[in-house]
Amino acid sequence: MSGLAATPRSTVPGGCGELAVLRERGRREVFCGLAGIIWLHRKIQDAFFLVVGSRTCAHLMQSAAGVMIFAEPRFGTAIIEERDLAGLADVNAELDRVVTRLLERRSDIRLLFLVGSCPSEVIKLDLSRAAERLDQLQAGRGVRVLSYSGSGLETTFTQGEDACLAALVPELPAEAPDAPPSLLVVGALADVVEDQFSRLFADLGIDSVRFLPARHADEMPPVGPSTRVLMAQPFVSDTVRALEQRGAKRLTAPFPFGAEGTTAWLAAAAEAFNVDPERFRTVTALGQERAKRAMSRYRDQLEGKRIFFFPDSQLEVPLARMLSRELGMRLTEVGTPYLHRQNLAAELALLPADVVLSEGQHVENQLDRCRAQKPDLVVCGLGLANPLEAEGLTTKWSIELVFSPIHGYEQAGDLAEVFARPLMRRARLEV
Ligand code: SF4
Repeated sequence: MSGLAATPRSTVPGGCGELAVLRERGRREVFCGLAGIIWLHRKIQDAFFLVVGSRTCAHLMQSAAGVMIFAEPRFGTAIIEERDLAGLADVNAELDRVVTRLLERRSDIRLLFLVGSCPSEVIKLDLSRAAERLDQLQAGRGVRVLSYSGSGLETTFTQGEDACLAALVPELPAEAPDAPPSLLVVGALADVVEDQFSRLFADLGIDSVRFLPARHADEMPPVGPSTRVLMAQPFVSDTVRALEQRGAKRLTAPFPFGAEGTTAWLAAAAEAFNVDPERFRTVTALGQERAKRAMSRYRDQLEGKRIFFFPDSQLEVPLARMLSRELGMRLTEVGTPYLHRQNLAAELALLPADVVLSEGQHVENQLDRCRAQKPDLVVCGLGLANPLEAEGLTTKWSIELVFSPIHGYEQAGDLAEVFARPLMRRARLEV
């Protein structure tokens, strides 16, 4: 375990005292934040994402989204070729032309994101000023123009969503001065999951519940001191910080994965809204029961199996908690690109005391440790999965966890199956 010896350690508070954290800085193997467009453009139904980037960015978008066919796609790439600084005025004029043409053709667009990338020609461009200029130019059409960065130099793939939602926060309307407390669920969820949670909150008697992002540009939620923020995804830190700056208060909870996580997540909202404990038990009992039963179908395949997480999606800590506590998996190492102590406080408290956490990426060190551990299942990015499979390890692509509906009671069985499937496939191959 050469990497272990070479890596600095720190600690974070856990349930049974301090948890050790390996801090890694080195070569990374993750998608950039542009990847978030693939799920965000489906979520905000009248938004368009215009990547300002190179041919590489266009290829990434095409291949990442290649499996989906749309009559009218809602993302595209304005390709900026190599230019010197003197050519930047032309770039701005070109961007104006591209945007005007796009909006003339597509009257359904209400929200346009200019998404920055990492080629040096794009870095020289001030995209936020370009967005402001275009926002004024296009105001007559009722289109808002915003910008954020999906650059691989600044973001890993789920941070693209955080950057997008954080760009929306200054645009959110202010809540009325005498507004009663409202709940704001932050982080993109599949519509079907959002509807399930809406029903549960309504059954609990929490009436004012909104989601960020909303499904349409003109339905974005108001925010202010009466807003209680419940994170649905662990990677929306900048967004939550921006909401706090507008007066909102964050609720601390585990994330809604598995029966236990979903119940604890709902309980944080119930407590903040003074829901009667008996009512809470009644409303959640059936869902908990269904989730436990659905997960138990995969217990035989998962119990006692050793799992290793490479840092990728920032979902690693909540998923590790769910797999260890509800399905009996053993955690060899749980890597995450960023270990946000505050966002993950309730999760860390539920991890086993001997868990090895690692923050950041040094892919060679982590590969050394993974090979030494010989886990039964490795959760990693696409780039690492094939070589590890060729070495005889069983892998699961972490990006699948971001694309699939995995939150809440009704998805708990599917979530367990996501981890059981590669093990079942391997067992069949070995037979
Ligand atoms: Fe590659 Fe950077 Fe474009 Fe992402 S933003 S596709 S990392 S060039």
